Amino acid sequence: MLTKAYDVLKEIYGFSEFKTGQKEVIDKILQGKDALAIMPTGGGKSLCYQIPSLVFEGITIVVSPLISLMKDQVDALTELGIPATYLNSTLTAAEMNVRLKKAVNGDYKLIYVAPERFQTEEIFYLMHTITISMIAIDEAHCISQWGHDFRPSYLSLGESIQQLDYRPIVLALTATATPVVSNDIISLLGIHSDNRIKTGFERDNLAFQVIKGQERNRFLLDYLTVNKGQSGIVYASTRKEVERIYELLNAKNIKAGKYHGGLKEDERNSWQEKFLYDEVTVMVATNAFGMGIDKSNVRFVIHYQIPKNIEAYYQEAGRAGRDGLPSDAILLFSPQDMQIQKFFVDQSELNDELKNQEYRKIREMAQYGSTQICLQRYIVEYFGDNCDDCGRCSNCLDDREATDITLETQKVLSCVKRMGETYGKSLIMKVLTGSKDKKVTQWHFEELSTYGLMKGVPQKEITQLIDYLTAEKYLSPTDGQYPVLKLTEKAVTVLKGEMIVTRKQAKVAQKVAVDDAL
Ligand code: ADP
Repeated sequence: MLTKAYDVLKEIYGFSEFKTGQKEVIDKILQGKDALAIMPTGGGKSLCYQIPSLVFEGITIVVSPLISLMKDQVDALTELGIPATYLNSTLTAAEMNVRLKKAVNGDYKLIYVAPERFQTEEIFYLMHTITISMIAIDEAHCISQWGHDFRPSYLSLGESIQQLDYRPIVLALTATATPVVSNDIISLLGIHSDNRIKTGFERDNLAFQVIKGQERNRFLLDYLTVNKGQSGIVYASTRKEVERIYELLNAKNIKAGKYHGGLKEDERNSWQEKFLYDEVTVMVATNAFGMGIDKSNVRFVIHYQIPKNIEAYYQEAGRAGRDGLPSDAILLFSPQDMQIQKFFVDQSELNDELKNQEYRKIREMAQYGSTQICLQRYIVEYFGDNCDDCGRCSNCLDDREATDITLETQKVLSCVKRMGETYGKSLIMKVLTGSKDKKVTQWHFEELSTYGLMKGVPQKEITQLIDYLTAEKYLSPTDGQYPVLKLTEKAVTVLKGEMIVTRKQAKVAQKVAVDDAL
């Protein structure tokens, strides 16, 4: 069977070799097994279902939330001579009927369907009339409420599959799944855990960078001047910020487009087209932009503020360098930006448990901005995997000498311990600086031996040190909106004097170039 798959790869797609992971996934599917494929953006997930669909008799249903992309995918397949269509809310009732009839007639090999459609009678009828050899579920993390983009319609999809009196092969695909989410996907879809195929999460052409302590507009304009003419995305957290940055760039003669949920659909589409066809080089956008965008020559993705979690960050940053060429993934980091994301969670309709989960994810995102370990490794470890230091990120390339901060660390840790490991960052900082704040006196913390132990050190510095110790896992925050800091095992070793702690000095603003950019 695999020889047939190779033939299709060469004859239809014109590729000579499979990409990492593709062969393993296709092999499982051709053996009639269900599978979960976790592969990075640009990893070639589409071929994992398209090739088996051509080898199998019968029809393959592809479930995708990316309505705007379905037409492109179907057009691309049609161009390759593969009969395919899509069924989603953009069709009129008449168009839908024509397509359903053709589907029943066996005119298509692949049918793309939006998840919401599974609740409709048409799809129920279709599924029970045709023979489905395989159901491919793209963006499969949407089925898990622990994922970052849960969509209830994905759950009904699982039910629809169960209602069939036979079981088609199920292939779930995603680029972002933490171990919890991946377990959830396989249990909800009934996939055997041996059939989980995960290729390295590492993106070896991306240079991750965290920029701190620099004036952001300045950095952005300098960067865009140095990288003039190159295509890239600037993500901001609010519509207002998008508008402001868009105005700023255009005022400096940088051809920028904009994209956010407040724009009319045709305006959004028009900017998207302009970006895809390089009529504007920079797209300034909220996270509404980009899901499923297959633009290969995106050279940089700059986040003006932190996104809501590492999953979202990796997915958005991962839109750079899909063609495999070196590209930048830059985060302009300021710890206060956590507040914007926290605000979105506060305002959301999530229940308390889910809110706590989101707060934790925001903290893990902020820790990315404070850590000094390899940034690529931080992300890969977040997804439950391992990799070597990348040698390309701003932390790997940071060649400043690390200084010994064991003593300061011990001061912080012992203060946390003496306060009973039941308080948050700001109160710990106040006790260390010897503040007379009401809360400090109310709990009699001025009687602790650690009270005022770091008197004279600026508050901001102590807060940054606590953030650093949290990012490096000496301190572990509890869940919830107001996390309490606890000591980890590593911290106990430091307190016993059995471990040295080092840190590179806070980054000094480095000016990229070009004074006349402003
Ligand atoms: P994903 O869905 O995982 O983000 P895609 O399926 O869109 O990735 O594939 C990314 C790019 O890689 C596409 O341009 C595709 O044509 C190309 N590609 C996929 N498989 C191969 C292969 N075996 N050899 C060469 N290029 C491939």
